Amino acid sequence: MPYTTNDIRNIESKWQKFWDIHKTFHVKMDASKPKYYVLEMFPYPSGKIHMGHVRNYTIADVIARYKMMKGFNVLHPIGYDAFGQPAENAAIKHKTNPAQWTRRCIAQMHDELKRMGFSYDWDRELSTCEAEYYQWNQWIFIKMFEQGLAYKKASSVNWCPDCETTLANEEVIDGSCWRCKTAVVQKDLEQWYLKITQYAPGLLEDLAKLEQWPSRVRAMQENWIGKSYGVEIFFKVKDMPETISVFTTRADTIFGATYVVLAPEHPLVKKLTAGTSQEAQTLDFIKKTANKSKSLRMSGDQRKDGVFTGRHAINPVNGEAIPIFIGDYVLMEYGTGAIMAVPTHDQRDFEFAKLHQLPMRIVIEDPKKPNMTVDQMTQAYEEAGRLVHCGEFDGTPNEEAKKKIAEWMQGKGWGQVSVHWRLRDWLISRQRYWGTPIPMIYCPVCGIVPVPEHQLPVVLPQDVQVTGQGGSPLARVSSFVECICPQCGLKARRETDTMATFFDSSWYFLRFCSAHNKEKIFNDNEAKYWMPVDQYIGGIEHAILHLLYARFFTKFLKDLGLVHTEEPFVRLLTQGMVLKDGEVMSKSRGNTVDPDEVLSQYGADTLRLFILFAAPPEDQLEWNSDGLEGAWRFLNRVYQMVEKRYKSVKSVDINSTSEPDLTLERERNNAIKRVTQSFEEGYKFNTAISHLMVLANAIDKYKNDVPDILQQSLLNRAIETLVLLLAPFAPHVVEEMWQMMGKSEATIARVAWPTFDEKALKTSTIVMAVQVNGRVRAQIQVAPDMPQEELRKICLADGNVAKYVQEGAVKKFIVVPNKLVSIVV
Ligand SMILES: [Zn+2]
Ligand SMILES: [Zn+2]
Repeated sequence: MPYTTNDIRNIESKWQKFWDIHKTFHVKMDASKPKYYVLEMFPYPSGKIHMGHVRNYTIADVIARYKMMKGFNVLHPIGYDAFGQPAENAAIKHKTNPAQWTRRCIAQMHDELKRMGFSYDWDRELSTCEAEYYQWNQWIFIKMFEQGLAYKKASSVNWCPDCETTLANEEVIDGSCWRCKTAVVQKDLEQWYLKITQYAPGLLEDLAKLEQWPSRVRAMQENWIGKSYGVEIFFKVKDMPETISVFTTRADTIFGATYVVLAPEHPLVKKLTAGTSQEAQTLDFIKKTANKSKSLRMSGDQRKDGVFTGRHAINPVNGEAIPIFIGDYVLMEYGTGAIMAVPTHDQRDFEFAKLHQLPMRIVIEDPKKPNMTVDQMTQAYEEAGRLVHCGEFDGTPNEEAKKKIAEWMQGKGWGQVSVHWRLRDWLISRQRYWGTPIPMIYCPVCGIVPVPEHQLPVVLPQDVQVTGQGGSPLARVSSFVECICPQCGLKARRETDTMATFFDSSWYFLRFCSAHNKEKIFNDNEAKYWMPVDQYIGGIEHAILHLLYARFFTKFLKDLGLVHTEEPFVRLLTQGMVLKDGEVMSKSRGNTVDPDEVLSQYGADTLRLFILFAAPPEDQLEWNSDGLEGAWRFLNRVYQMVEKRYKSVKSVDINSTSEPDLTLERERNNAIKRVTQSFEEGYKFNTAISHLMVLANAIDKYKNDVPDILQQSLLNRAIETLVLLLAPFAPHVVEEMWQMMGKSEATIARVAWPTFDEKALKTSTIVMAVQVNGRVRAQIQVAPDMPQEELRKICLADGNVAKYVQEGAVKKFIVVPNKLVSIVV
């Protein structure tokens, strides 16, 4: 009987029901077993799963199922990152309510995930948009507020005009909104921030512990956190009491500083020009720059605009008065928002100086062009060299001078040796509806007051008109806004901004440890047992955003004494993209393949096997219908093998010396060894599957009409091994086959992973080539490691060799063990 589409449907739904009824993948804390926590980045519930999800979750599932068979107590949960803008936008479009829309999407997604046969502990399924979950967001926020880690401040913030909300720095990708790709502009607003910068040293240092993360991700985080050593130099403003602080890592170039540039947002700018003839053009420039995206301002090939403030600063090392400019290529986010410009040794400064005809001075000599003058320069010299025009430092190699000059300046009181971080605090307030209400109250008397713990959750009201226009929708709901101050009892109002949804995903992995705990954020013992996540799987796009925030929250919760680990994720796998016709599958390109359709035609097992066979997990995967067909044929072949060739026999002592029997045993043991290695040495699932195919070939080759019980037992054992090794990849059909074989275990998911015998891997004979005077004359079959004397006898007895060699004429007899015999006559 072939394994038809109809069979697939019946088998897959039968086993999905079985797993549901028996709660096969429900786990409890069990100190007697080693634990293993496998987690995929939980989905945003858009309604339908796409191939990217299927790939991510299939990789996780295969690992989870393998670890279960290896005897681990495996936690493999799923939930939904359910707050966020798309639900709000969809609700506006379809004139429904974001809660209803989201819950409907979750229900649909839940069914699709079940159809894939994923081994989730469904009792832990959670959704961040339910008060049961988000009340703990509020609880964490208040804890942070109490520690001074959540604070409100007015500043220039990233604003997405399309989403009509603020964005964190991490959410601005190449100057655009990470969600809708609209160019981000700056706006002055008072907003809530989380002081992630307080954890910058730990976040940086502990990257070294994450040995099992892709080095690329670690490098991206290191760069984002951006620690740099340098000196903060004080430039006095001429004829004013003010001082401009400039942070530089290049103290070696201070003698070449010929002007200073402030970011247009720098707080001193307005003061410097107030009441002067420069004021109008300065204000105009500030306004123009606010509409430019930061990435555009920072990009190298952009024209560097700026205006002169009319003021001068004093370079402390030589007393020169140098002009102060404001320029769009300087950002408030970096350093102090002001730079000393050294046009001869910094390309951006060079371009700005050329544009505005500013003076230049060479202070590092290019060893290849020792007599170069400023007029001859066509670009800045940014390489190493010895100092010139630097007074007592002339002749010092510039790398050495960096530290020397910094310390010298500190000694003179002209600067302060210091460390700077690129990381900025995390802006988390959003002017949107579909998120966690920030649990704060504004009282006319007491000021900002946190909602007391016993009053949590601050429930997000459901009957809100979401229009997508004009500020926080919650601000228009008077029953929400109006409240009583918990401190003085006077009338007060609630904060109406909601939290960025990355808040929700910064700790969900902890909630899974005791997903529906009513008393606490999570049970301490459970968290202690399950954490950290042993294997985390998700897209590289979260290399900074989510992965940095999750690390920050874990460190904070550790400081509160709630978790015992510094780091949430021991090992990270970033799966590759799914492509079709050479391009990333996406709705906008119109090149998607709907998982639903593949499931209906081929079933989950085939889809899973194809995805895992087509490419290693980290690589891109090119969609290929032939590959899908091939995966289906392979499962069909194994299925028929069980159906036709597996016959129940009495158990016998399996011990044979016949060559075909030994070969089958060798292939069986080899498959176990290779597939196990593929799991243990970097998840090479594609090679694992090819070893399964090799074993299937060996079984097919094994004589068809087995005459006795011994051989049937051997055949059975090989087929059983094949089915067991296939179990993590194609979980439904293996359950069916296990049952067809009359096995006593109710589910193969909990059967022990097979082990191999190193001895059985040894071949009983090997083939050696025999050369006479350098030419191969024969191939002989002998036992491995045969003593030379015996080998000599066999060689000389071989007819073909004997033709060329007469006994007694042998001058040399050379043996390359187990490979070659070379006879010289
Ligand atoms: Zn946007
Ligand atoms: Zn009050």
